[in-house]
Amino acid sequence: MNADDVVRVRYAPGVVGETRRVVHVAIRRPDGACVALCDLVIAAAEAELLDEIAGMPCLVCVRELALGFGGAPAELDAEAAR
Ligand SMILES: [Zn+2]
Repeated sequence: MNADDVVRVRYAPGVVGETRRVVHVAIRRPDGACVALCDLVIAAAEAELLDEIAGMPCLVCVRELALGFGGAPAELDAEAAR
């Protein structure tokens, strides 16, 4: 895993209601899907990648970041071990 694979992502406009468009911290898979620290998977076609800090953060992702990825999904642990 390298730093470029870590992205800020939310659902694109119109995919879900506005209240669910919180910004997640995620790892980008080779297929373009984003796997967030909170275990949410957003398909590439439904994802809006953000270049800057914007929107309401996902509180679960923020918590996982604060805990140092300790509770990250197993898939992310496997990535980190490479
Ligand atoms: Zn999240």
